[in-house]
Amino acid sequence: MSLHPVWTRRRTRVERLRGEHRHADELLAFYGDVLALQEPLYARALGSRWSEAVEAAAGEPPRVRLSRLPERSRERAFRRFVRVLPASATELLRAVAERLSTEPAALRALLEAALARQPVAAVAESLDCEAAALEFFPRAFLQPIAEALAGRAAGGAASEPAGFAADQVSGDAGARAACPHCGDAPVAAVLRDLPEARGRRTLLCSLCLTEWGFPRTRCPACGEERPDRRPHHVSESWPHVRVEECGSCRTYLKAIDLREAGLAVPVVDELASVELDLWAAGQGLSKLRTNLMGL
Ligand SMILES: [Zn+2]
Ligand SMILES: [Zn+2]
Repeated sequence: MSLHPVWTRRRTRVERLRGEHRHADELLAFYGDVLALQEPLYARALGSRWSEAVEAAAGEPPRVRLSRLPERSRERAFRRFVRVLPASATELLRAVAERLSTEPAALRALLEAALARQPVAAVAESLDCEAAALEFFPRAFLQPIAEALAGRAAGGAASEPAGFAADQVSGDAGARAACPHCGDAPVAAVLRDLPEARGRRTLLCSLCLTEWGFPRTRCPACGEERPDRRPHHVSESWPHVRVEECGSCRTYLKAIDLREAGLAVPVVDELASVELDLWAAGQGLSKLRTNLMGL
């Protein structure tokens, strides 16, 4: 039972896509279990005094600074989160979780590196494990907290996601490629029709899942806007997810087109359409920002 509609929508979407895309079943089963762990963190962050701690002074982006979360309570919550990694996780992730549970210093260093947006290479080396696997833990842990606090910083109702806010609809001209709430990079783009703007494009934050307006054809990585340098690709199996390529910097993002699939949930569909990432990698493209699963 979910008290927050946004989490129910995500879980329903996970189940739906599991039925439609069998090859993504294991990934989605695990993601469904991760969502069940994330929602209580979201609820806790909404109801806690964490938001007062992380909010920066007005007009000074990013508005939410997770590095200001109180040390003791964030560490305790992170330790608990790592310990309850679901059985649907890959063997690799389970092995890393086990190492982390027995190495409190590494656990602390990992969370601190993630909060400071620094590479986790040193922690990976000390634990003799892959940095990519290690990164999953602080990201999965911080994502719902960032989402709840970004929603509060934006003045949204407590039960609403940080998501799409009316005040973000205007003024794309000076749009930034970094999230205005938490400063992280976008993991996907979203396309939708609004009464005042058809085919409106927003970017979806990879951490707090806020969306913000961004010019339709501009590359968020290098600013390229020439249409001949901005091809996009659609596959038959994912007609509502297009790969937006940049011919100048060779990065890509996936755009979830809600006009094609009104029930799509961008964060879920982005993650489930892993075959498009494999295709893009085969073309020599690199993703602007990997998703929670490191894909
Ligand atoms: Zn963000
Ligand atoms: Zn580019």
